[in-house]
Amino acid sequence: MIVGVPKEVKQHEYRVSLLPVGVEELINRGHQVVIEAEAGSGSGISDEEYADLGAKIVPKATDVFEQADMIVKVKEPLEQEWPLIRPNQLVFTYFHFAADQRLTQAIIDSGATAIAYETIRDRRGQLPLLTPMSEVAGRMSIQEGAKYLERPSLGRGILLGGIPGVEPATVTILGGGIVGMNAAKIAAGLGTHVIVLDVNLDRLRYIDDVMPSNVTTLFSDRHTIVESIGRADLVIGAVLIPGARAPRLIRAEDLRLMKAGAVIVDVAVDQGGCVETTKPTSHAEPTYVIDDVVHYCVTNMPGAVGRTSTYGLCNVTLPYVLRLADGGLAASVAGDAGIASGVNIHQGAVTNSAVAETFGFPY
Ligand code: NAD
Repeated sequence: MIVGVPKEVKQHEYRVSLLPVGVEELINRGHQVVIEAEAGSGSGISDEEYADLGAKIVPKATDVFEQADMIVKVKEPLEQEWPLIRPNQLVFTYFHFAADQRLTQAIIDSGATAIAYETIRDRRGQLPLLTPMSEVAGRMSIQEGAKYLERPSLGRGILLGGIPGVEPATVTILGGGIVGMNAAKIAAGLGTHVIVLDVNLDRLRYIDDVMPSNVTTLFSDRHTIVESIGRADLVIGAVLIPGARAPRLIRAEDLRLMKAGAVIVDVAVDQGGCVETTKPTSHAEPTYVIDDVVHYCVTNMPGAVGRTSTYGLCNVTLPYVLRLADGGLAASVAGDAGIASGVNIHQGAVTNSAVAETFGFPY
């Protein structure tokens, strides 16, 4: 099979979908790899590194789409890429179809097969291709929060860990899943007071067991949310109800209960956000201020730390890339329920019930 890797075109997206080790594995198995020039540069991977291992470097995205049987990407295809996708081509990437009806229609019309990272399940029913990006976003949320708490960034002028003789910051984390745990780990390591709220008591028991004593767990209800955001210098929004819009746990009027110059990093922005005043932002202009509270709501946080994210993502996607390349679509779907659950659109038909229901397509 010819596997194609275009350069990502989304603004401030620095990830690439295949590492040099992936090229080596594919070539060793008798496949060919076509990579657009500079595709890896945002992640610090040069064309030479790929070429030395046998990849063919081509100047334009059109060359990749023309030659490849399977396109492997990171972000959903943008409008300029839609006309390049060919009938029967496999496209393996994050799609998030339910958020974009025009993209869904474009892929239906292309006649290609869309295998979405975000719906591939492992044997435990988990979504393994989402996990590393949640780990990145969770850890990064504290780093970004620290930056925007600085006075020149319109924050309170607080150093997260404090210093001897001066109080550290309080960090309130809404949701103790993968994003929340990773945020808590970094915030705790810096010496802040950390409060994690969740509705899942088993999850809170686990966090209480494994985290150091500067992490407090609280059951998430309206009273504890209001009380905890009032104490917070930094709030991390990290809730998820799978398949649904994020619940709005912080109302617009609640901002007045918060400290002036406090920061909210709403990681859940990609599911609509868990704060009423959240609106999506980008790395070019990540924050805005409402009622003296700095809001950071970047939808593709991992894109900014391209190198870490590329390695984290490719570690989990490569086994699937190899399986699809070796077996082709039909055998891979028949032999692996996880890959089957990733197929969202096939030759003009929607094959994922949630996407079909969202837009009223037959399923
Ligand atoms: P997860 O499923 O691992 O964790 C979500 C947690 O939220 C669960 O523990 C759940 O019990 C909890 N929860 C649900 N309702 C709650 C409530 N009312 N109060 C408190 N907790 C509640 O999900 P995750 O992987 O941690 O992802 C969290 C969010 O971050 C998702 O929306 C995901 O898409 C998003 N995300 C965004 C970016 C970005 O760049 N902005 C990157 C990665 C992930």
